[in-house]
Amino acid sequence: MTTDLAKFAADKGVKYFMISFTDLFGGQRAKLVPAQAIADMQEDGAGFAGFATWLDMTPAHPDMLAVPDPSSVIQLPWKPEVAWVAGNCVMEDEDVAQAPRNVLRRLIDEAAAEGLHVKTGIEAEYFLMTPDGNQISDEYDTAAKPCYDQQAVMRRYDVVREICDYMLDLGWGPYQNDHEDANGQFEMNWEFDDALRTADKHSFFKFMTKSVAEQHGFRATFMPKPVEGLTGNGCHAHISVWDAPGSDARSNVFAMEPNGSSQTAELGLSEKGRHFLGGIMKHASALAAITNPTVNSYKRINAPRTMSGATWAPNTVTWTGNNRTHMVRVPGPGRFELRLPDGATNPYLLQAVIIAAGLDGIRTKADPGKRHDIDMYAEGHKVRGAPKLPLNMLDALREYDKDKSLKAAMGEEFSSSYIKMKTQEWNDFTSHFSQWEKDNTLDI
Ligand code: ADP
Ligand code: MG
Ligand code: MG
Repeated sequence: MTTDLAKFAADKGVKYFMISFTDLFGGQRAKLVPAQAIADMQEDGAGFAGFATWLDMTPAHPDMLAVPDPSSVIQLPWKPEVAWVAGNCVMEDEDVAQAPRNVLRRLIDEAAAEGLHVKTGIEAEYFLMTPDGNQISDEYDTAAKPCYDQQAVMRRYDVVREICDYMLDLGWGPYQNDHEDANGQFEMNWEFDDALRTADKHSFFKFMTKSVAEQHGFRATFMPKPVEGLTGNGCHAHISVWDAPGSDARSNVFAMEPNGSSQTAELGLSEKGRHFLGGIMKHASALAAITNPTVNSYKRINAPRTMSGATWAPNTVTWTGNNRTHMVRVPGPGRFELRLPDGATNPYLLQAVIIAAGLDGIRTKADPGKRHDIDMYAEGHKVRGAPKLPLNMLDALREYDKDKSLKAAMGEEFSSSYIKMKTQEWNDFTSHFSQWEKDNTLDI
């Protein structure tokens, strides 16, 4: 049954709705709509000038409407008089083809038409910085190997507990929080869900974490490599596919062969699971344009060893069992972990590109290739034939542009808008004068 937002407001004491959408660069945009106007907005949507955001529109485009998806509504736990609701972008009665949530919805429908339901969990690491973003917020957090640091996590207990309490109240099933591998870095985990729900939760988690951090006088950042020399912010995705919307273990098609057996599969991954993974492997270099979408992303992957001893980020397109030095890890039966994405990835496009690559893998019966049970950081040079991940954003965009089937699966309109906007961003970056150029070429 569709949630009536006006009734939701009356029942819960909500005064304002934040009708939100996410643009191509992952920016979250919203209008604050008073509860008394929400009934009309629920029908018609809130109006935006698309050109004012990163959606590849001109100032001459007609109004774009963000039509709330009432099933996504969340009352802000830290400000209960406001409720956030994800909007679907519509222009002249048509879905805006390049809007990230629409790209994901279309791919979810395609998968469902083939009887496949993708479920994912993400690990959105973040740093707590000083408000100007220049330093980590805790001057005592200096250990060389700070992961799981008991003392340091307790110095930020008030922030971590507040966010975790909110996730408990929201029914997300959070189950652990820790200090991560970089000084100033944290991770909070909650239960996996349908891809669209996970994308909405991922967006909301970023909004919530930034908001709570601000209230405590800090700045939370999901930037892939906010501090040079320290481990970066990953956003690993755990993926499984089910043949029914529920989560009865028997319907996990990654765990079960069609004959009902789960015993024969390599590492507990069924034939369909292997093909889905094959699609991820086949499209990995192009995928990076979405999973690692910024200039800074390429300071996390392919990075030199960090102060803690390992980057925990991949360099090469390889997979393995329970070993964190590869792009894909199969931690247990019936799912795999893609370790490529970083904190800058767009929550909706991340899920969309996983489904696009995976479905292509299933349709083409893609083979993920040989698995390598080695320490990639120490012995990676021994692997022959596995592509290196792109070295920078432009290389990734070119890989994406070359990958015709992935571009088509993500949608031609989306793909051309994305490549266009991101190439402009790259050009903006390269036209920026840097100190490095002076330091290295002044006397040439
Ligand atoms: P790790 O740090 O070992 O990679 P975490 O516990 O931090 O693992 O995160 C694991 C994520 O994977 C969680 O979001 C969890 O709910 C999710 N997950 C577990 N099982 C599945 C599954 N079958 N399908 C999709 N996601 C899963
Ligand atoms: Mg984790
Ligand atoms: Mg992980």
